[in-house]
Amino acid sequence: MNLLLCSVLLLALRASLLSSSMAESPQQDRTQETYLQCLIDSSDPSSPPISPLAFFPGNPSYSSVLRSYVRNLRFNSSTTPKPLFIVTPTHVSHIRASILCAKIHGLELRIRSGGHDYDGLSYVSRAPFVVVDLFNLRSVDVDAEGGTAWVESGATLGEVYYAIAAKSGVHAFPAGVCPTVGVGGHLSGAGYGNLMRKHGLSVDNVVDAVVVDASGRVLDRGSMGEDMFWAIRGGGGASFGVIVSWKIKLVSVPAVVTVFKVEKTLEQGATDVVHRWQYVADKVDERLFIRIVLLPVVRKDQRTVKAKFVSLFLGRADDLLDIMSQSFPEFGLEPKDCIEMSWIESVLFWSNYPKGTSPNVLLQRIPDSEKFLKKKSDYVQEPISKVALEGIWEKMMELKRPALTFNPYGGRMSKISGSETPFPHRAGNIFKIQYSVTWKEEGDESLNQNLNRIRSIYNHMTPFVAKSPRSSYLNYRDTDLGINQIGNESYSEASIWGTKYFKANFDRLVEVKTMVDPGNFFRYEQSIPCTPWPSRMAE
Ligand SMILES: Cc1cc2nc3c(=O)[nH]c(=O)nc-3n(C[C@H](O)[C@H](O)[C@H](O)COP(=O)(O)OP(=O)(O)OC[C@H]3O[C@@H](n4cnc5c(N)ncnc54)[C@H](O)[C@@H]3O)c2cc1C
Repeated sequence: MNLLLCSVLLLALRASLLSSSMAESPQQDRTQETYLQCLIDSSDPSSPPISPLAFFPGNPSYSSVLRSYVRNLRFNSSTTPKPLFIVTPTHVSHIRASILCAKIHGLELRIRSGGHDYDGLSYVSRAPFVVVDLFNLRSVDVDAEGGTAWVESGATLGEVYYAIAAKSGVHAFPAGVCPTVGVGGHLSGAGYGNLMRKHGLSVDNVVDAVVVDASGRVLDRGSMGEDMFWAIRGGGGASFGVIVSWKIKLVSVPAVVTVFKVEKTLEQGATDVVHRWQYVADKVDERLFIRIVLLPVVRKDQRTVKAKFVSLFLGRADDLLDIMSQSFPEFGLEPKDCIEMSWIESVLFWSNYPKGTSPNVLLQRIPDSEKFLKKKSDYVQEPISKVALEGIWEKMMELKRPALTFNPYGGRMSKISGSETPFPHRAGNIFKIQYSVTWKEEGDESLNQNLNRIRSIYNHMTPFVAKSPRSSYLNYRDTDLGINQIGNESYSEASIWGTKYFKANFDRLVEVKTMVDPGNFFRYEQSIPCTPWPSRMAE
């Protein structure tokens, strides 16, 4: 009965907020004043004032603050729903105040760190909402002797890598290869990169975290407990709280590593090499990571597919050449292909910066160019036959635009249990596929054409990828898999996309969610739902 009453009141409040947000300016001003007063009243008086950190639509900086961390042009149009206000905390008390005020006013709260969510879920909602944007909270405090660092969620991966290399030439952190990705989303969604086969995922190297929960409590690992600490390491932090900072364990890397980038088209035997790669890439020495990027291209007026092999080896070139000649002679790696460098230089190499570029570029928070994009993912557990690969190339050439990236698993990834963290895709996977379309043309026609392209290649791949269930990587957000009807979340609907991301771990995530956020304050299109009401009442 009480629950019903609460829901009705919440809906009434939402409706009144929605109408007030569409009303004349004086009314709008009064609403904004109410929100701002709530933020002021709810923050700690000893913390820096919150008023200059809150941006309302009338504020001249509102649009630029909102747009600064939109990393997909699909969600940067005049019709994209906009937040009622944005808070840019410099202190944990500002996060607490944002949570409490969103709760009091029945608003949804979106949490943004680097803004790279492929489907924009950190800054777009159809319900009245506010954004907590953590870009001001971005300190990285490295303890090279202790082999750890405290990293705030608003830092980028580039800033983390830069800070580690500034303190040590033999330490690194296993995370993604794009320097502008934000720590908050990346770590709470698992985080993988080219150190994965040797050192696992980012979340396999997280030892503590500070979170503000739905009641506004500031918790560390000890006070949040092991269940919540488990959930935020790969289960998507935004279902459980706002993660302020992470304590990460650094890993050892040699002073000299080796990289290569070799391209082969179909005419140069790409099919044979890609086919063979599937039998080698997940079993070879775990210091070696060889990614393949496959792109449909036109060469001498002929359509073809280019396979770009990009590698990091944690050792010297001589060792790499020995390993490749024994395990993968078909590749034909030559000494001239191999470049020795420090780990931090390899980060720049993988981000396509020319040799000699200063690591300072890793501090640039804005990518060189922005695009419209859509991505999807799959896991492959049985090698794909040559005939099937040829069919895939045909499809890519017909569609013209999708790129496929194959990332090898094995090594340390196979040694960690699938339930150790919410990320379940461990032993048994040869590689993960990322499907990608990017475009620059505006308008619905382009949008639909490109969405059709990526969905078409994804459908084409059905026979060749993991089936029960067909699996996806949470950090490659894909709302095509299904979304919550917010305000009326259903366990059975959510389990459709939930088991794709988390397999059997989905149920434990639901249990943790029910325990730490029973009122489902932290909700969004792919948030973890609470246990269905009847079973909770029966408890
Ligand atoms: C160019 C590019 C390259 C990429 N490369 C890689 C890669 O190499 N490896 C890889 O694993 N992934 C990669 N990704 C995917 C990336 O890891 C995810 O998109 C990740 O979630 C982005 O984190 P963010 O903080 O930038 O994004 P946001 O959009 O800010 O957040 C993503 C999600 O996390 C939530 N969230 C963010 N911060 C917090 C917080 N502090 N507390 C609680 N919840 C939070 C958001 O609400 C949202 O649901 C790449 C993405 C892009 C666009």
